[in-house]
Amino acid sequence: MSNSMVVEALEDLVSANRILAHEQVIDGFGHISIRHPERPDRFFLSRSRSPELVTLDDLMEFDLDCNPIDQRGRAMYGERPIHGGIFKVRPDVNAVIHHHAHPILPFTFSKEKLRPVFHMGGVMGREIPDWDIRTKFGDTDLLVVTMDQGIDLAHALGKSRMTLMRRHGCVVAANTLRQAVFIAVYSTDNAKLQLAGRGELEFLSDGEIDETGKLLEMPIAMDRAWEYWSRRCGVLAA
Ligand code: MN
Repeated sequence: MSNSMVVEALEDLVSANRILAHEQVIDGFGHISIRHPERPDRFFLSRSRSPELVTLDDLMEFDLDCNPIDQRGRAMYGERPIHGGIFKVRPDVNAVIHHHAHPILPFTFSKEKLRPVFHMGGVMGREIPDWDIRTKFGDTDLLVVTMDQGIDLAHALGKSRMTLMRRHGCVVAANTLRQAVFIAVYSTDNAKLQLAGRGELEFLSDGEIDETGKLLEMPIAMDRAWEYWSRRCGVLAA
């Protein structure tokens, strides 16, 4: 891990933890991972700890079956198969976020679909599939703790950027960490706005969703948002 590209990626992963905690997408729970920039068969995820407190030192390396490369006695998040499963099934994905943001949760226990209601909500994409652990695994504590469950979740995600986990939370998967954070923050905003909408709601058209999604391919947009959130949570000095 002496390579500077890897160190830079890990520093961004620390920032992402702080940003998503500050923006109230994650709280004491929830986690964020990145694929190893030089070894696609590995990923990085913090040891088990509150995301707001994560430092470089807390980041651990895992193989795609979620075995630690060098555990050193550290406690690990039980739900890491969410990350390993998606990295295995989706070679295009380099960052995964799992969270239980409160504005998203109502859409996990009702029939109402989360759909883009405003400009930035378009980055969620056209399809936000649902995954219900109960369908294949029956009554559980709802945690995704086996590779079978993680792979099943990844298959439900399909080619989408997000999937809702029934009665539990949400997963975001993207090509870059900045895109994943962008989608996580604005999908949470979209959920708040959709719940606040009065009367018959109007949604973005499929064409508008496709056009809005192009934002994710614009570094100028990704970097500006990242800078804003980094400053707000204090990882970037004024
Ligand atoms: Mn969870």
